[in-house]
Amino acid sequence: MCEKAYRLRLYPTAEQKTLIDKTIGCARYVYNKFLAARMELYKAEKKSLSYNQCSAGLTVMKQEEETSWLQEVDKFALQNSLRDLDKAYANFFQGRARFPRFKKKHGKKQSYRTNFTHGNIAVNLECRTIKVPKLGWVEFRTDKLLKKFPEKILNATVRRTASGEYYVSVVCKTEVELLPSVGTAIGVDLGIKDLGVLSTGEHILNPRHYRKAEQKLIRLQRAYARKENGSKNQEKARLKVARQHEKVANQRKDLLHKFSSKLIRENQVVCIEDLSVKNLIRNRKLAKSIQDAGWGMLHAMLDYKARWYGRVVVTVGRFYPSTKTCHVCGHTVPMLTLDVRSWQCPVCRTVHDRDENAAINILNEGLRILAG
Ligand SMILES: [Zn+2]
Repeated sequence: MCEKAYRLRLYPTAEQKTLIDKTIGCARYVYNKFLAARMELYKAEKKSLSYNQCSAGLTVMKQEEETSWLQEVDKFALQNSLRDLDKAYANFFQGRARFPRFKKKHGKKQSYRTNFTHGNIAVNLECRTIKVPKLGWVEFRTDKLLKKFPEKILNATVRRTASGEYYVSVVCKTEVELLPSVGTAIGVDLGIKDLGVLSTGEHILNPRHYRKAEQKLIRLQRAYARKENGSKNQEKARLKVARQHEKVANQRKDLLHKFSSKLIRENQVVCIEDLSVKNLIRNRKLAKSIQDAGWGMLHAMLDYKARWYGRVVVTVGRFYPSTKTCHVCGHTVPMLTLDVRSWQCPVCRTVHDRDENAAINILNEGLRILAG
């Protein structure tokens, strides 16, 4: 059994939209309220609040007159806010994340999560509707050909994007069959402009439509920057940027899905660099945010797909000089600037394609780690 998420574009009615926005607002309110309370209590008495204590506090708040409006929205959304806050604290104390921050009204992530219980979330594929607690049946569309929806639903996250579109991600438990094992291992050098280069010499390029969409995003972003602050035209331009940004991010996600599936399908072992390596490299500002998110996403996809299908992913550490080391004789050259696409090893005289050489080194280093 494994968990799989299904993302559906929602088409809520005006009433449903209002309720979604309200629920997102309430979830944020609860999160911020209890973050403030936890910070205050710690400052005053060096004490912490557990999830259960927060949950009891929430029950009291719902009964108080001035915050009784919290009763009007999905109760799971509010409870999950408290769980997320608790997790944010745990991540901070275990050194995995920064101290939790207050959620902003206009932040990137506008969402709430609800849990499955007694059929409160259900999908009707024939009518293209999904039942969500408090909202009732909401229309949806999806590009994927869904013949059957998994029966075991765990939770659903309802999201509003910066351009005002609505989505729901439904997490389900499904059966996945392991892929038959194969004898191949591959090294991947993640690309700056393109997706990556494989140790087999294969270059995985971004398709034309994606490069075009990215160019358009950069153009729109420039147009936005030229608009007068606070003007109507600026708001129009902002929406255009937001929409294009979402489009590019979605296309990139699709590409990463295809790329990760190909790597996992064709190989038993996939060796890949730690993504912090690539974060060191400066890049055009705009595409960068998407790319940064993309590398994290690719790692995550490879990890869970490897688990589903019975494959192995090896991460090669950030201090391993994959680019500057000759894969033939092991000699390391002092520096290679980004514009050097190919180079000759001064010791063994082999001429290297920069990225192919790196991919082969990543493969060799990954296999060495795996053997140890
Ligand atoms: Zn050499």
